[in-house]
Amino acid sequence: MKQAGKIALGAAAAAVGAAVSATVVKAAMYQPETREAKAFPEEKVDLDRYKQNLSDALKIPTISDRDPEKVDWRQFERFHAFLRERYPQIHQNLSLEIVGKASLMYFWQGADPSLDPIAMLAHQDVVPVTPGTESDWEHDPFGGEEADGFIWGRGALDIKNHLIGVMEAVETLLEEGFVPQRSVYILFGHNEETMERETSGATLMCQLLKERGVHLEAIIDEGGAILPVRVGKILNINLAGVGIAEKGYADFEISVDAVGGHSSQPPKHTALGKIACVIRDLENHQFKAELTPMMQELFDRIGRRVCFPAKLITCNLPLLKPLVLEIMKQIPPAACMTRTTTGVTMASGSPAPNVLPQRATVNVNFRIMPGETIADVEQHIRDVSSVKDIDIKLIKGKEPSAISPTDSKAFHAIEDICFGMDQKNLVAPYLVMGGTDACNYEAVCENIYRYSPFMVNTSLLLTTHGTNERIPVSCMADGVAFFKRYIRAMCE
Ligand SMILES: [Zn+2]
Repeated sequence: MKQAGKIALGAAAAAVGAAVSATVVKAAMYQPETREAKAFPEEKVDLDRYKQNLSDALKIPTISDRDPEKVDWRQFERFHAFLRERYPQIHQNLSLEIVGKASLMYFWQGADPSLDPIAMLAHQDVVPVTPGTESDWEHDPFGGEEADGFIWGRGALDIKNHLIGVMEAVETLLEEGFVPQRSVYILFGHNEETMERETSGATLMCQLLKERGVHLEAIIDEGGAILPVRVGKILNINLAGVGIAEKGYADFEISVDAVGGHSSQPPKHTALGKIACVIRDLENHQFKAELTPMMQELFDRIGRRVCFPAKLITCNLPLLKPLVLEIMKQIPPAACMTRTTTGVTMASGSPAPNVLPQRATVNVNFRIMPGETIADVEQHIRDVSSVKDIDIKLIKGKEPSAISPTDSKAFHAIEDICFGMDQKNLVAPYLVMGGTDACNYEAVCENIYRYSPFMVNTSLLLTTHGTNERIPVSCMADGVAFFKRYIRAMCE
């Protein structure tokens, strides 16, 4: 018995030893894919002009609104005149159409018409400054001031920086005599921020392209940025997030009817009580969470870049998947990447404290994962609700986008350029939580990438749509250089 015990212990120790050394070997071999840093020739960027033009662009309050009557269209006319004045080469060499109320469609004819064109997207409009927060701004939100190493103003990060950056890139390429083989569209919508998909300039421009038989090779729009990630000695990278898909959206109004009456003689459950059960059921039965292939690719790419001791863990990601998923589900900003989310937002019952409700209503906001549909969400509500006599009404909805591939010419170009510019840059495909104009172009393009090539940290990103929106001047020249290199890579 004693002997047998020793043998068992020895066998266990040997097994653990073997497992540890296997893990050490595995970790040592868990390396980033060998990628040669392509050397790109220096790109000329006129940073002074870019700064001046961005600053002046921010002074024009191109604020959109769901109600076109409330939009000051003169500001968009001013913005168009401003672009005409500042970018003479573009306006001499590209054709321009105004689509819908104020969207801009520029077309740069390529030498080889047999190639599908690419499109560079951005939106001209900005959100207003929230009333009451004006005095929280350290600089005038529509002053375009440069101070403390930043250019300040509404639109500095969302997304006039990107729009003016594209104009700078194309203007400079034209000055240098560049002739694209592949045609280039520049498509600037005028009402992205209103999220009115049917009437958006982007939708109208896509319809126009479709009518004309145009199929696009690739699109770049706003979305991800370059995020510096520093975790002690474990990880030191710049995460270049390229959005390859975006979540869908659905607001459902769920109602229960009842007789109502005086609250002195209530039934056991009023309509509002029944709605409370619906809320409980929806919150207790969340959608199924999953580590999507996109997430796994993201973790894998990061996992290969951590320091050696940390790799002992990250190299085992496939084994750790259930644990990782369980942790992510507990953290809302991470959980939203794993499943369709359920957010109960509004509820109403009777109009007075002593009146039983004749109808009680709850509004629930869902953000839908690619692969699921608005119809799936409605079915989910019916399936999980223990109250069966409910009315379900879709108030507003947008299906999730398709998922763009990560092996296209455009994605490889983005990777090559990012890595070539800085070997700390790690291109990572990810799921965009908000909406962009880009998904309106699915009818004419499969390779849609949501990426703004500007290095901006998380706290600055939080200023978009908020107070003190501003862009660091230090990241601006690289943004234009990226756009120039991308156009060259796709069109040479
Ligand atoms: Zn935007």
